[in-house]
Amino acid sequence: MLSCNKERMEDKIKTFSKFGDTGKGGITRLSLSPEALDAREEFCRRCTALGMDIKTDDMANIYATISGEKGLPAIMMGSHIDSVKQGGNYDGILGVLTALEAAETIVTEKVPHKHPITVIVWTNEEGARFEPAMMSSGVITGKFDKDVMLASKDTEGITFKEALEASGYMGEIENRMTAEKYKALVELHVEQGPVLEDEKVDIGIVEGVCGMINYEFTFIGQADHAGTTPMKYRKDALYAATKTIQYLHDELDKLDGKLVYTTGKISAHPNIHTVIPDLVKFTLDVRHQDPEVIKQALEIIKAIPNIVEKCEASYEEAWSRKTVNFYPEFVGYVEKNAKEYGYSAKRMYSGPGHDAQFITDVIPTTMIFVPSENGHSHCEKECTPVDNCLKGANVLLQTILDIDKN
Ligand SMILES: [Zn+2]
Repeated sequence: MLSCNKERMEDKIKTFSKFGDTGKGGITRLSLSPEALDAREEFCRRCTALGMDIKTDDMANIYATISGEKGLPAIMMGSHIDSVKQGGNYDGILGVLTALEAAETIVTEKVPHKHPITVIVWTNEEGARFEPAMMSSGVITGKFDKDVMLASKDTEGITFKEALEASGYMGEIENRMTAEKYKALVELHVEQGPVLEDEKVDIGIVEGVCGMINYEFTFIGQADHAGTTPMKYRKDALYAATKTIQYLHDELDKLDGKLVYTTGKISAHPNIHTVIPDLVKFTLDVRHQDPEVIKQALEIIKAIPNIVEKCEASYEEAWSRKTVNFYPEFVGYVEKNAKEYGYSAKRMYSGPGHDAQFITDVIPTTMIFVPSENGHSHCEKECTPVDNCLKGANVLLQTILDIDKN
């Protein structure tokens, strides 16, 4: 079977790991930063050398295309080039580099294809410099208001608009991805969790992205002196909150084993060691692929009484996202191709969000996962062995060619 080239794959990963190198095994390559612009330049240089045509849209998304038969829509593959602060060399960039390697294989091996084939680089997926995450795929699919996004500021007060204009990558609105011009997207990404490695599986066949709910809980008690207030008179908002967190864990654990939930943010007022806390807030993030299980989680939240340990308890939804299902035919191609290459594979849902989940509303889309060593992600330890990267690139290549044929 047709195969991508391991040495070239390795060289790509090594080269791009220099852009934003922290010196500790990872990178800081925030969106549209000088480091990210260096990575974009190298990407464009390599695409130009392969004879690809490069366009950018008004959100600086890069579309590098191998031409095909006239009048046919293009097939896209790719991901993002930006990282979080002190992130790794695989999240996002591996989706770009495997796509570039697949494109290079098509060009150098003169693989016949009808449709144009585009390697896409989405701008600002991480939202680490300019909030929110998945900004540009969100704008072009109508999820986010462009003017609001342009006003998003980094910690130095620079707006996204200013960074965009200074980048040299702001192109025409006419170049945006549309259903007329593009017929499919396949995004390869690192799993960002330990399941594939744990189960010794090469390829994650991604069926969709888990739905999630995010709630904020508030507890109001009474601030009093820590030395003079007998325990029975206290209205301790932090105690009420911790009791509730315990309840949530106990009850949510009774639901499906694939459910994940997190209290990642908590605040206590006045946060002074001699004062009984009078105001405590915490968040709960719950994710599962089955809307029915999310509904059950919601019932557990709703069962929290108005008064907990003499404190007023309330909760509200901060935001939520419905489960996204990818295009079944493409999911089937990924499964078939992994099998034909002799790779082990497993169907799964993504916990984290990806650009692909927005694009799937406009054109048929799917994703391919490769293992993350020890499940690490969004940190400098992030790693996917090159053999796994190559396996992913091969499945990506063949899936693009299947879409081309059918
Ligand atoms: Zn990513």
